[in-house]
Amino acid sequence: MRGLIAEKVAEGIRITDEEAVYLYQEAELADLRAWATTARNRFHRPNQATYLIMRIINYTNVCVAKCDYCSFYRLPKSPDGYVLPRDQIYAKIDEILELGGDFVGFNGGFNPKLKLDWYQETFRQIRERYGDTVEFYALTVAEMMYVAKLCRISYAEVCYALKDAGVRWITGGGAEILTNAFRERHSPQKYTADDYMLAQETIMRCGLNSTGTMVIGFDESIDERVEHLRRVREMQDRLRADGLLGLFSFLSWTYKPYHNELGGQEVDGESYLRHLAVARLYLDNITHMRTSVLTQNSNALHGLHYGANDFDIPLEDEVTQMAGAVINRNIKEIIAQAENEGITPVFRPMAQAPALRNV
Ligand code: SF4
Repeated sequence: MRGLIAEKVAEGIRITDEEAVYLYQEAELADLRAWATTARNRFHRPNQATYLIMRIINYTNVCVAKCDYCSFYRLPKSPDGYVLPRDQIYAKIDEILELGGDFVGFNGGFNPKLKLDWYQETFRQIRERYGDTVEFYALTVAEMMYVAKLCRISYAEVCYALKDAGVRWITGGGAEILTNAFRERHSPQKYTADDYMLAQETIMRCGLNSTGTMVIGFDESIDERVEHLRRVREMQDRLRADGLLGLFSFLSWTYKPYHNELGGQEVDGESYLRHLAVARLYLDNITHMRTSVLTQNSNALHGLHYGANDFDIPLEDEVTQMAGAVINRNIKEIIAQAENEGITPVFRPMAQAPALRNV
């Protein structure tokens, strides 16, 4: 198996599911590092990586989905439940701009009080106030799905309404592990994997951008991880066959097991690097592979040698912080950690990126 994979990597031939299982379970770490770097350098300059300075704005923590791995949500009527007022949202955006960043991601919960018009108005006002000086991920795929179901309209109708309000991105959050069995075990209210894939494909076919995501370290099997990657690769193949860009990037992060019902252990740093390498090798139709400083801190920068070409410098994400993530807000220190890996970090301005990539 090792020789066959080495040949395939050298020639840029797609690997199979069986080979992906071998990579997860048996491949030497040194092989993974070398192969993932070969695959990475087919898309990107060697020894250079891009980064974003960003924050997640958790606009509400009210959610009815009750995922057992979540430490963040509060049920409706909880005294700790909140919806952020707009002036607080603006203050968070202003702070990012002051620190040299230009990007925020919105992530909340399935809040039955927030209908489509709340999202339209919020994003329209942000676009009017900031123009193209800031870019934002409006919602995750899962939140978009909830808004559609809550308002009894189609995914496409939500997408076009948000697009009309100035939205350009709906990020691939809420994917966790994309198998129906995983979701049945841990998040039965958060839609099946089949439904999620349909929604994400619809987003891109409606002319919005999206990203692929994956969270490892719950109780998922290796076969489930490979199924997740397979679903993503197949969707990307369909979109590319129709002349669309498809997913802009793929980001994997690790489950944090604190203060929630599921509990468990944190995945170790080597397992994260191993997974990054497998994702880079398997997802041969996605250009950008991102590594998660938010959940892996300095280990994420080692990931630049395991297939990743892009990293985040996050200032805030209440969802992962409540589950145990510790954020380093020292931007210079994170950049220095990348440089210590022999990598030249280059700021990636989101606000200047081409507005629409899937039309
Ligand atoms: S992970 Fe998201 S959808 Fe699930 S309970 Fe938490 S906030 Fe709600």
